[in-house]
Amino acid sequence: MKPANSVFSSYGTTVFEVMSRLAIEHDSINLGQGFPDVDGPEELRRIAADAVIAGPNQYPPMMGLPELRRAVADHEKRFYGLNVDGGREVMVTSGATEALADCLFGLIDPGDEIVLFEPLYDCYLPIVRRAGGVPRLVRLVPPDWHIDEAALQAAFSEKTKLVLINNPLNPAGKVFGRGELERIAELVIAHDAYAVCDEVYEHIVFDGRPHIPMITLPGMRERALKIGSAGKSFSFTGWKVGYITAAEALLAPVAKAHQFVTFTTAPNLQRAAAAGLALGDDYFAALSGDLEAKRDRLATGLSSLGFDVMPCAGTYFITADITPLGLGEDDVEVCRRLTVEAKVTPVPASAFYQDDPPRRYVRFCFSKRDEILAAALERLGDYLTAR
Ligand code: PMP
Ligand code: GLN
Repeated sequence: MKPANSVFSSYGTTVFEVMSRLAIEHDSINLGQGFPDVDGPEELRRIAADAVIAGPNQYPPMMGLPELRRAVADHEKRFYGLNVDGGREVMVTSGATEALADCLFGLIDPGDEIVLFEPLYDCYLPIVRRAGGVPRLVRLVPPDWHIDEAALQAAFSEKTKLVLINNPLNPAGKVFGRGELERIAELVIAHDAYAVCDEVYEHIVFDGRPHIPMITLPGMRERALKIGSAGKSFSFTGWKVGYITAAEALLAPVAKAHQFVTFTTAPNLQRAAAAGLALGDDYFAALSGDLEAKRDRLATGLSSLGFDVMPCAGTYFITADITPLGLGEDDVEVCRRLTVEAKVTPVPASAFYQDDPPRRYVRFCFSKRDEILAAALERLGDYLTAR
């Protein structure tokens, strides 16, 4: 039989699925795959449930329900002072994943160069490559994950079509500073390129830092596509409702991809997401405040067990260096052993690199109930002292 598509065939099953299955098999506390263990606001769930009963349950408009597009526009104004026309500059997608696929399929032609930052979210490279893009990777430098200026400059060329940036950054927990974002924007503009901005963790930023959307920087209003996710902002990762904010002319080719990929998204969930975006400031403050406390709880606990915990300024992930634990040199094997033997599951950070990854980092998700985090720390403590 003829082989299937060579790009997708070259990848195994995603690390999130693999580690979640392993965690279930070994009755392990799953701090691997990123999802909260408590669902988001009941009032939003009720809106979604009522909307199924009330209907309509037929195809919503391709670009999204007008009320959600309006809500996204109001949200961009409220949080970032950005004037957005919801009827022309917002498109609803089935999660940020579909939004990313639409942007990449809609903008990339074979041979275009795509600048990305490593470590990177696992779906980026397969989609870029399937779209015919040529990845140009800029490796962020730990422990603060700063950008090496020479590497950044070297990644750009006359073939650069776009930069794909995730801010706040999964898995590293980095929040890019204004200076870094401005430098990237400068290069994007100088190369007449675009910026696809995965900002799904826009409301999960800690220690009073602001989230700075790339689209708000000078010269970027026409060049940036800002991607958000109701899964992250309202703790409904299973809903898969995302949204893109971009200038009308830039959104148009992306909508062409969307119409052939999913065309639309469940209408009841769109309605609930619209209500979510209109929640009061107290909701958003509590989301980041609660997660900040969980970050501190897990970071302190892991440090006291001997993990070398890296700073986390946003997202719900902590990256830790396993070297001091003496558990081995290979993150994949250490994550497997922690799952099977300690019954706590992180994910290996090498999964977030293309080639020659560092093997010393693992990622823990802390969007879990406090008693779960406490139990995970206790299990890790028992395991490490028993060795
Ligand atoms: N981008 C990043 C950086 C993520 O961490 C995730 C997932 N959790 C996504 C995109 C996908 O979001 P969604 O579930 O809305 O497709
Ligand atoms: N974004 C989530 C994470 O980083 C997982 C999403 C998925 O399982 N595809 O863990």
